[in-house]
Amino acid sequence: MGQDLSRDSGSDGSPLRNCWEVTACGREPGGERVDELGVCPAATCAEADGANGGRFGGRICWSIAGTLCGGRVQGSWAAKILSCVMCPFFDQVVQEQGGGFFLHLHDWLRISGRRRA
Ligand code: SF4
Repeated sequence: MGQDLSRDSGSDGSPLRNCWEVTACGREPGGERVDELGVCPAATCAEADGANGGRFGGRICWSIAGTLCGGRVQGSWAAKILSCVMCPFFDQVVQEQGGGFFLHLHDWLRISGRRRA
């Protein structure tokens, strides 16, 4: 049995899509490119589940180290954030979340009560 990668809905009832659904990267569990580099950590990061309304880290991928965008292992947050903020998906999440947008995973963990400040 695979992981549940289903979507949450936005305030207007429309589905909130995760990065692998928007980019069709194929690096989520069961994806067609998993055999190349493995499963992307954004698609399995349990502590990020729910951030910006996504499944696992699917809507806060820019804050997760070692993601697999572009077909290569990305580095730390500091190393990749400049390219991530240029990604159309980043802008899409900003627009969809409005005032409820979280840039940093640690901020979402603190607000959601999953981790103390
Ligand atoms: S972070 Fe990039 S490689 Fe990883 S699941 Fe999202 S779109 Fe795919």
